[in-house]
Amino acid sequence: MIGQKPALNATSDTSEHTEVSGEVSNDVSETVVDEAPEEVTDGSLDQDRLWMSHAMRLAERAEAQGEVPVGAVLIKDNTLIGEGWNQPISHHDPSAHAEIMALRAAGQALENYRLPDTTLYVTLEPCAMCAGAMLHARVTRVVFGAFDPKTGAAGSVYNTLQDDNNLHKLEVQGGVLAEQCSEQLRAFFRRRRKNK
Ligand SMILES: [Zn+2]
Repeated sequence: MIGQKPALNATSDTSEHTEVSGEVSNDVSETVVDEAPEEVTDGSLDQDRLWMSHAMRLAERAEAQGEVPVGAVLIKDNTLIGEGWNQPISHHDPSAHAEIMALRAAGQALENYRLPDTTLYVTLEPCAMCAGAMLHARVTRVVFGAFDPKTGAAGSVYNTLQDDNNLHKLEVQGGVLAEQCSEQLRAFFRRRRKNK
């Protein structure tokens, strides 16, 4: 997986969701919204969509493991250097969010705790913990899909990534494949309610 380039025909296959049963205790908001605050016209958008599609496929792995479906990838020079998906329940680890897992994988791959000149793609707006980890890692840019009005720390509730007190600030692009990312989460919560 490391060093992987994005497939040009990357699409999100959401047709094979595993039905989730059992107790899922995760504090990811159920009220994700998919409205981007402004029209996205950046030239890197196609690339952003490709990597976000990859993050959505990783989110499916989380769901297959009974976790809330969130996926993340870390990219450097348009090459994948780390990927992760949400797995706090199975790891008995409250910090095992998709972004943290991707940062850990990239740190191991590059043998460096600093990860400059990278872009992190994640299907849901990062929480304060993950935003803090991205600051420590010196990630350059974060691109997220669905907005999280309850716990989002990339502008929705907190603006951790761009706080004026920060020594380091990240570029932030929200709302890439927002509708698809939101629907992936909403479908998960719908199924979970049905299975209760
Ligand atoms: Zn998080």
